[in-house]
Amino acid sequence: MAYEEPITDYDEIVENCTCAFCGCNCDDLTYLIKDGHVVGVRHACRLGASKVMEDMDQRLLVPMIRNEEGDLVETDWDTALDKAAELIAGSVRPVFYGWSETSVETMKHGIRLGELVGAVLDNQATICHGPSLQAVQNAGYPVNTLGEVKNRADMIVYSGNNAMNSHPRHLGRYSAFPRGYFRKRGRFDKTIVTMDPRYTDTAKMSDIWVGFEQNGDYEFYNAMRAVLRGKKLKKDVISGIPKEDIEDLVEAMKTTQYGSLFFGLGLTHTLSKQRNIDIAINLIQDLNKFTKWNLVPMRGHFNVNGFNIFMAFEMGFPYGVDFSRGYPRYMNGETNTIDLLTREEPDVFMVIAADPGAHFPGGANRHLANIPVIQIDIHWGPSTEIADIVLPGSFIGVEAAGTSYRMDGVPIYMKKAIDKPETCRDDEWIVRELHERVQKIKGSQIASK
Ligand code: SF4
Repeated sequence: MAYEEPITDYDEIVENCTCAFCGCNCDDLTYLIKDGHVVGVRHACRLGASKVMEDMDQRLLVPMIRNEEGDLVETDWDTALDKAAELIAGSVRPVFYGWSETSVETMKHGIRLGELVGAVLDNQATICHGPSLQAVQNAGYPVNTLGEVKNRADMIVYSGNNAMNSHPRHLGRYSAFPRGYFRKRGRFDKTIVTMDPRYTDTAKMSDIWVGFEQNGDYEFYNAMRAVLRGKKLKKDVISGIPKEDIEDLVEAMKTTQYGSLFFGLGLTHTLSKQRNIDIAINLIQDLNKFTKWNLVPMRGHFNVNGFNIFMAFEMGFPYGVDFSRGYPRYMNGETNTIDLLTREEPDVFMVIAADPGAHFPGGANRHLANIPVIQIDIHWGPSTEIADIVLPGSFIGVEAAGTSYRMDGVPIYMKKAIDKPETCRDDEWIVRELHERVQKIKGSQIASK
């Protein structure tokens, strides 16, 4: 990697900012500001720094509406908001999807709007940690904070994730490397284990790598539970791992002082889906008969957990919440965005701070191309190509303040460091405006009956 000169040309420093990229929500960043722009970021990893440094080339700067020729053309805020409110108020099966890269304060107005029009509110958990959330409902949630991991854990297991690449500061800030209150020697006081079929960068820096077979997670976890309960394994090799290695690993896990397991989509999305997480939670519960163990899902977007926590707190369900009957309902396979889209049910789709155009299967995107799409976001992306109305929001944690929830469920206040472009609006303001305008349309419809 080429050496990069440190940035010295800046007017102002803003400290203790929070990174708006992954679920680590690192809140120790320093932004270097020049002429009202972030020109440098200290302490962040490359992923975080590259997101925070504004990419003005692709920035959505003005509200736009698609004209009859199929082109997005610039318009004023009132026209764009009125048109969006009209579409939402007139829809029968609206879906509001995304929310994982905006603030909890914005979500609050989203719920009010969703209740008003009987929408489905869903977030990216529907395509990532949704099965983990189902497992938590089945089997419980023995979670701990990242602070506890830093100060107490002497054994850390990464299962089905490659933290070194996906959450680059996770090991340095919270798990393997930092010195903690009870772990004064940092990395020397900790055993790191990676359980993953792939020999990832995280596996390379671990003390133990368990490379079980692809889709062998459920069998492997079951074997660990059996050994933990004093059973003799009947097969010599389980999921590609010799039984002696499994026995040694279980012995190490039960004799540690404090263990923490971090699992990712490699565990959540292999063959047994939420049953993998059920069994991982059961393993943690079994281990707690011997010593202290907890687990944390490696959440991707910085506020994907925030939506799930906020929705569960407000409505009782974490994602895929359907208000069409006037009260919240949640049925996996029925009220999730992809299921709704592939059944061609939604007639209006609002996407906020997400990119279904890049992540959804073809069938779901095909229906999106046939219905009105309203996009609230800061950057041009595949979803902009199918959007009929584009409302440019602001960057939470850089241009607007707001609350997010870290992967371990700790709420973090993300402060504002610079002003947003004059032509953009805060996400919170946009959704509140939509709610007020839809309320007016609905009110006048009732009055005219
Ligand atoms: S680890 Fe995640 S939250 Fe921390 S700086 Fe990197 S991208 Fe941002």
